[in-house]
Amino acid sequence: MTIIVDDAGSGDLLFGVIIGAYRTDTGDFKCGLVDVKFFQPELYCSKDYLTEAARITLELLASLKAKPDEEVHLCQGYIFDVAAAELKKTLDEKLVQRIRVTGEAQRLTEIAYLDEIRNLGYEPLEEREEKRAKSFFHMMRWLKAKPEMLKYAKTGWPRLKRYRMFKDRQGNDESKPLHLATCSECGEECEVPFKPDPHRPVYCRRCWGKRRREERKKRGTPTPRHARREGSPETSATIQP
Ligand SMILES: [Zn+2]
Repeated sequence: MTIIVDDAGSGDLLFGVIIGAYRTDTGDFKCGLVDVKFFQPELYCSKDYLTEAARITLELLASLKAKPDEEVHLCQGYIFDVAAAELKKTLDEKLVQRIRVTGEAQRLTEIAYLDEIRNLGYEPLEEREEKRAKSFFHMMRWLKAKPEMLKYAKTGWPRLKRYRMFKDRQGNDESKPLHLATCSECGEECEVPFKPDPHRPVYCRRCWGKRRREERKKRGTPTPRHARREGSPETSATIQP
């Protein structure tokens, strides 16, 4: 008999993180919430979300009446690092495993998270799980249109500092602010280090690289190696010609 513990929402901008615990022999499922405040500027740096996730995990295991000889499989995600250490203090080390959670445990935890974000009025993208970067920008756009909902967002993430909409919440950052843009070529969301001009095309890193290579080919100049590299749209900057 095994209890599987998974999380949903740790990589998503909206809402806190759902911790779900699933008992394989009975199909019982319980879940709890690491409140979004743990991912906001005042608390984020202290990493208290890890102890909170551990506290919730222990609570869920108790409510599923976990026995001392039962295996507990925790998702590999960082959010369970403290939970795993805590469990190993009371359970035999062999009983506590870190796994890649799939199946029913994963499905139910994801549903619980989706319910929460839908309750905020946000409709998640169909392909949310395959297209993480796209989903990130989708949530960001939604927040931009509804700044009053920023209180439900993980505004403490350090990389958000570069966006003006989060800047006020995190204090000043020396680096150039980033702006959201839509690539004129492929239509993907991307981020650019300048304010996009609506009258001029903007390209994501991939399309910009492609255009540069084609221009070079036309001129007959060899492509330098660094220009061939393709970055994920989430982390790459883009250039406006
Ligand atoms: Zn593009």
